Amino acid sequence: MTVAETALIRIAEIFGPTIQGEGVLIGQPTVFVRTGGCDYRCSWCDSLHAVESRFRADWQPMTVDTIWREVSTLSGGRPLMVSLSGGNPAIQPLGPLIAHGHGLGYRFALETQGSVAKPWFADLDVLVLSPKPPSSGMETDYEALADCLDKAGQKPRTVLKFVIFDDADYAFARDVAARHRDLPVYLQPGNHTPPPPEADDAVIDLDGIIVRMHWLVDKVMADGWFSATVLPQLHVLLWGNRRGV
Ligand code: SF4
Repeated sequence: MTVAETALIRIAEIFGPTIQGEGVLIGQPTVFVRTGGCDYRCSWCDSLHAVESRFRADWQPMTVDTIWREVSTLSGGRPLMVSLSGGNPAIQPLGPLIAHGHGLGYRFALETQGSVAKPWFADLDVLVLSPKPPSSGMETDYEALADCLDKAGQKPRTVLKFVIFDDADYAFARDVAARHRDLPVYLQPGNHTPPPPEADDAVIDLDGIIVRMHWLVDKVMADGWFSATVLPQLHVLLWGNRRGV
């Protein structure tokens, strides 16, 4: 066994199966493996429990075997899609986990902001690159984003996904999409509702989401951006900001 295979992965939570709530795999049965830790601090992050150091004590360093026991139990041993999210899952040593799951017939999707590239991106089935727009307060490193695409190569189905709150976010999405015209684009209106523990996890700003969804659809149609797919965050509509669904 190599050092890489024994490296511990920091896990915030493993849950499912449930449906993927957004983007290219929306509606598909999925087990979620959420890693702990992120190199970003987005102003509207809805996964603070997997980002901020005040939650670090809740993150478990786990081996591939331990993670896989949970994934296998949750999925009933039936191979389905495993979604690797965070935090930023790209900062964790996930290559051996992906290789292990693939050997058992599972498929893997990973979502990252595109700030850290790893060679094992090429082993994924789906790579969702979600650069963060101006409303997040973060700045995109375009070289790092290009490096993620280089590392992924041709194997994963790679898409761009953007959270949109306002005109500046929309302009950002258009600019990034123009730099990568070959990648499918998924747009979703942002959700202003703070996640727990800052707010009740069952309460969401549904009216605001609907208003922004209408606004976004109108904007995309007016611009004739017909290659883009516009979707709400289905899991937010169904379950608010609750964890583990
Ligand atoms: S990149 Fe994602 S997980 Fe990290 S702070 Fe931003 S929204 Fe949260």
